[in-house]
Amino acid sequence: MTNFFRANVDAMASYVPGEQPKRGSQVIKLNSNENPYPPSPKALAALQNIDGEWLRRYPEPFGDQFRHAASQVLKVPSDWIIVGNGSDEILNVVMRACTEPGRKVVYPTPTYVLYRTLTEMQAADVVEIPYTQDYQLPVAELIAVDGAVTFIASPNSPSGHVVPSADLEKLASQLSGVLVIDEAYVDFAEADALALVKDYENVMIIRTLSKGYSLAGLRLGFGIAQPKLLQGLFKVKDSYNIDAIACTVATAAITDQAYKNACVAKIKASRTQLTKEFQQLGFQVWESHTNFLLVQPSQQNAAYLYQKLKEQQILIRYFPHPGLLDKLRITIGTDEQNQILVNAIKALL
Ligand SMILES: *Cc1c(COP(=O)(O)O)cnc(C)c1O
Repeated sequence: MTNFFRANVDAMASYVPGEQPKRGSQVIKLNSNENPYPPSPKALAALQNIDGEWLRRYPEPFGDQFRHAASQVLKVPSDWIIVGNGSDEILNVVMRACTEPGRKVVYPTPTYVLYRTLTEMQAADVVEIPYTQDYQLPVAELIAVDGAVTFIASPNSPSGHVVPSADLEKLASQLSGVLVIDEAYVDFAEADALALVKDYENVMIIRTLSKGYSLAGLRLGFGIAQPKLLQGLFKVKDSYNIDAIACTVATAAITDQAYKNACVAKIKASRTQLTKEFQQLGFQVWESHTNFLLVQPSQQNAAYLYQKLKEQQILIRYFPHPGLLDKLRITIGTDEQNQILVNAIKALL
């Protein structure tokens, strides 16, 4: 019998993204942490004004237009920035450059499930170290493994917590491999770890326009690290990994900080409100520094609620993973969507 695939690919499970309903279907989609508000009008105007000539030609290989804009906003040199087709691609590029069979990739769990998928794709060794019950980072254990790559999502999904910067700095200073700090949700938090990049050549910060900037469909993410680290990553990325449209629209979006900040402020206010509503229903709610809540129903089975809401066209996320079997991850929607969700849950209790 023929087998088309490498043994590790044959053996690995596929990454399962949140369900993406068909265009035009009337669902309330609170399962993939998309922003409920539209992208910046300036980003949409940039899209309208795309010149056919830019599509005829190949795009800038390093997305220099976007790098320049991001450099202004973040106050880092533009040659410290790598741009990708979503931050997922940057994560993949790090793995292609830094891992191989026999090298370890380590991360605390529960976290973003894609880290495991990407590790298995490279046939590298997965080392998962559980968070404590109250989501304290197992710093000593992570350092003891000293992986080729260590992933920390901060704020983390699905817990919503921010990893203290002292913990991150301890990792950065004691690991010999690359420390990837995935800040996909940083726009909804009060703190970030960007300063570590200046002091540690093994640190890479990952950001995305998918969540804070309402551009998940555009596919644009980026990483920030010292040029010494980026140099190796540039060798393995596709030559034209970001298309001309994404680069142009993302540049307009990141330049419009006022719009992004206004959307984030609305989501944070809704987060406070929704937290109260769930607490009144007797749910345990973890403090969130993201655009989602992790909640634990008091009596009803989490999987049951997930299923029943789905039947009513309300999508939330249930992870059939250890430590999460009794919990639900719910994206913060508009106040109207959140109210429909709460009413539906009340009716099911
Ligand atoms: C959403 C998410 C990403 C992926 O972002 P894209 O830029 O859309 O690829 C990466 N990491 C975490 C933790 C996320 O939640």
